[in-house]
Parts: sequence; structure tokens; C-alpha cells
Amino acid sequence: MGKIARYLNQLTIGNVFDTPDVVEAYSTDRSVLKIKPKFVALPESTEDIRKLMRFCYQLMAKGIRIPVTVRGSGMDEMGADLGNGLVISMEKLNRLMESDKRERLVRVQAGITLKELNTALSLNGMTIPVGGHDNDTIGGLIASCPTDDFAGKYGGIMRYVERMEVVLANGDIIQTERFRKSSTSKKGREKSLEGSIYNKLPQIIEKNKELINKIRTENHGSCGYPAIVLVKNKNAYDLLPLFFGSEGTLGIITEVILRAVPIVRQTARAVGTFEDFKTAQKFLDLANSLKPRELELYDIRIIQAAQETGKRLSEITKSMKTGFVVFARFDHKCKRSLRKMGSIRKSLPKGSRLILESSKNAIALNEFENSLISFLNQARSSERVPLMTDFYLPADHLENFLSDLSILEKSLKMELALFGSYSAANYNLRPKFNVSDRDFGKQALTFLRTGAFVVSRQGGAITGGSPEGRVKAIVSNSAMTDEEKKLYSDIKNLFDRYNILNPDVKLGADTGFTMRHIRDNAGKISL
Ligand SMILES: Cc1cc2nc3c(=O)[nH]c(=O)nc-3n(C[C@H](O)[C@H](O)[C@H](O)COP(=O)(O)OP(=O)(O)OC[C@H]3O[C@@H](n4cnc5c(N)ncnc54)[C@H](O)[C@@H]3O)c2cc1C
Repeated sequence: MGKIARYLNQLTIGNVFDTPDVVEAYSTDRSVLKIKPKFVALPESTEDIRKLMRFCYQLMAKGIRIPVTVRGSGMDEMGADLGNGLVISMEKLNRLMESDKRERLVRVQAGITLKELNTALSLNGMTIPVGGHDNDTIGGLIASCPTDDFAGKYGGIMRYVERMEVVLANGDIIQTERFRKSSTSKKGREKSLEGSIYNKLPQIIEKNKELINKIRTENHGSCGYPAIVLVKNKNAYDLLPLFFGSEGTLGIITEVILRAVPIVRQTARAVGTFEDFKTAQKFLDLANSLKPRELELYDIRIIQAAQETGKRLSEITKSMKTGFVVFARFDHKCKRSLRKMGSIRKSLPKGSRLILESSKNAIALNEFENSLISFLNQARSSERVPLMTDFYLPADHLENFLSDLSILEKSLKMELALFGSYSAANYNLRPKFNVSDRDFGKQALTFLRTGAFVVSRQGGAITGGSPEGRVKAIVSNSAMTDEEKKLYSDIKNLFDRYNILNPDVKLGADTGFTMRHIRDNAGKISL
């Protein structure tokens, strides 16, 4: 063990490692990248995190750089939880600290997973209605702020967070709070990093008023810090929104207070299969008007790909060769919703099929749903790589997007099957690549650039459903205006003037660096 790791072990209660097996274990996530950290810390408390940050900050003041990346469970698809300096894993900070049943408030450490939290809450009939992955941590969910599958109805993680505790780049700790203008000015006079943030942020907001209004009305993406539009609300300021989608670049979230909602246990499902998109969209629009919890659209080729891996889905899709599958789940007025869905059965063209949940088909629907989820969420596939996942597309452009996509399929000579959430307007493509291919890097770049062009041509945003990390940053950074870049880098500088926190993610992402870190030691290209 080297000197630094030994010193950090003396400093903190939790363990710090620099051994090859440990750094290897934290060098990958669900993205196509592999970046080996020098050190991995498993803090046991917020105090440990403060000490680690203070150490890195003081070293930086002396000109020695140890960049810091905070990591939840490592579920990121864009490489935003990887780093080549110190990785701080939140896995030990996973406690539910207290809960107030009457107010439905719960205070947790940021490393608790969505499943752990929702299992505990369910004992009191409560839940945080976010359709994320079981292993997503609350801190990771906030910092990546994905448009989850329930977001169309329940709005996403942002709606359920009341306050947070955050360790800043210099090791100072802050609690977010809504301050009126006078209290903000008072805070701004404090001689601390927090004071300096409260002093300068209102000035940045005032100076960029027009740009911020433009972002509020026109922006559908989450690259940079677009949540700046929510910081000032009726002459009061709250730093809380800025941390949504910040990808560990502004501070380390250590504790969170969330407001839960009652669980709705009774649900009803409907599945439709359609040979043409127009009919599928009529069905989608009807289902959407009934406010489903989930409303998913799949190109049939996604189902076929799952079947090729052995998943048994044919009970639902029968012998369908081309077309679309729609899956809807309702959690209010279930019977009425199914009745309404059934009312269009007679008007469906030949070749369409409608399955409404009943005791007879519940098992087949369970198998269909669970198999598909596990196929799509498999931790890693060396073939279907996440490059263009979670992008926003407006419903009225979906048909045109599909036409563009078929042109793209021909020109790139690859199958591009679309799937995603119609109710949340959030979609994915999982192109089939061979990551070990020497040309993978070049192919991936071409794919990302053309894909992003087509998405934006149809009024969409490539970072609509999750931020840019390292991978999407290749295309989103160059699409940002100079004014936006300046605003976002002013915000980053205010929080982290030495650029210690996840420096090569978001604005700091560098295409050359990203491409050099494609995993499997292949497909690397130098730019
Ligand atoms: C392209 C893409 C598609 C996705 N699709 C979906 C989806 O369909 N459904 C869904 O629910 N989620 C989706 N996600 C979200 C993804 O699963 C997130 O990574 C997850 O929400 C958080 O996982 P994690 O806790 O393992 O955090 P990690 O993956 O470890 O980290 C995610 C980001 O959060 C930062 N971070 C982690 N913990 C903290 C903390 N305590 N304080 C500050 N920053 C922190 C990390 O530095 C990193 O930037 C997607 C993400 C991406 C990038």
C-alpha cells in the first residue's frame, strides 16, 4: 500500500484502498468505458467524506491533483461514476436515519438504494414512486436525475426530495434550504464557500436572466446545469435543484430528506401488438389519456432479440414478424381503464391484438414483463451497448423519427430498434456492436453523431432523459452555445474552483480521453 492510501486510512474510519484487485473492481460501470482509479475509499460517515475532500482540496492548493469521483452502485451508462483519481463509494452510507409517518418524511443516507428504501417504506404503506433500477442509490438518482418509467405520471425523483446535506469540494458541509432574499444576502456575507455561493449565485442568475428564461422555455436536455432555472423562485433561493443531474461535479450528497406517497398496490395491465405505427400510436394516445403508471413502446425486434437469448415472450406476441408492442400499467381506476382500452378492440385493423389483464392471462403477462425487464436491464452486454439511451422525443415527431431511423439503419448497416416510455417521452436505441472490434471507437462516434443529429432534427434532445456524463458529452458539449457554456462553467467554478469533483464529466468531458478509455482494450482511437 502506498503512502497516500496509508495516510488516508489513518485519517478516516472507513477503508481506503489502492490495491490492484480493488481499483479494478471500481473501474467499470454499465457504460462502454473503463477508467482505473488510483484510490478507492469506502467512507463510514459524512465526517470521513469531509476529511477526504479536505485532503484533496489542500493538496490541490499545493498543486497536487487528485480528482474525486463519487459513486453509488455504479449503474451509470455514460461513465459518469468512473474516475482516475479517488473514487468515493457510498455503499456503506446506506442507512435509513429516521422517518415521520404522519408527514410521510424520511431521512436517509445517500448510499441507500431505491429498493432498500422502498422495502422499508412499504411496511408503512408508503413508497417513492420512481421506476428506477433496484440498485440505484438515492444520491446517484439525484445526481443523474433520470426520466424513469413512472415519470410521465409521477414526475421523477426531483418531485420527492425536500432537502439535502452536501459536502462541498473543500470539505465544508451545507444543508439546502429555501432562503428569502434577505436571508440569502445574510448567508452571502459568511466567510465560507457556502457564503461565497450564496453571494455570487444571485448575481450569476441576474446577469443571465434572459438566457435562463430561454433555457426554461426551450430546453429539453439535461446537459450542463439547466436546473439553475429552479434555483430562484419568487425572490427566494434554494441550491437544492442544482444538484439534480449534477453528476457529482458540484458536491457529494450525503443525506437526503424525501417525502413519500401512499403505495398503490392494485394495478391492471394491457398489452397491444400492432403491425403499423399509426395504429400503435392511437392506442398509446388513448392509454396515455387514462394516466397510466407506465406506458412502454417496443419495436418488435427488441422482443425478438430477447427471445433469441431464450426469453419466452411468444405467448404475448405470437408469430408477429414486424411492428410494435405497447405495454400499459394502470394504478388508478383500473377496471375503467381496461374497459376503455377494450372499447377500441373492434376498430383495430387486422393483424393487431389486444390483451387486457385477467386472471387467465396474468401469468403470461408476468412472464412477458419480467423477462423483458431483465433482458433490457442486464448489467452488461458486450453486444448491445448503451450509447444512445434516454433521449427525449416529442410524441408528434415519433413517426418521422422512425422514418429517419430506417434511413439511418440502411446507411449505417445496422438494426436500430426503438423502445422506451411514451408517457415520459423517453426512448432508447441499443445498437449491436462488437466492443472488441478494432473499429468500435470509430463506429460508436459515427453512430452517436448521426443519432444525435436525427434526434435533434425531430425536436428531441439526446440528454433529455439523463445527463451527458462522458459519452453523450461528446455530442452535447459541441451543441451548447458559448453563452450556455459560460453560464454553466461559472456555476461549476463557484462550487469547485480547483475542478476537483468529477473534472472530466459534463462540461469538462474530453472526447479524446473518453475514446481512449473504451473498455476491453479495444476499439480505442486517438483524436
Ligand atoms: C444513459 C443513461 C440511461 C439511464 N437509464 C435509466 C433508466 O432507464 N431508468 C433509471 O431509473 N435510471 C436510468 N439511468 C440512471 C442510472 O441508472 C443512474 O446511474 C442511477 O440512477 C444511479 O445509479 P447509482 O446509484 O449506481 O449511481 P452511479 O451510477 O454510481 O452514479 C451516477 C452519477 O451520480 C453521481 N453520484 C452518485 N452518488 C452521488 C452522491 N451521493 N452525491 C453526488 N453525486 C453522486 C456519480 O458521480 C455519477 O455521476 C440512466 C443513466 C444513464 C446515464
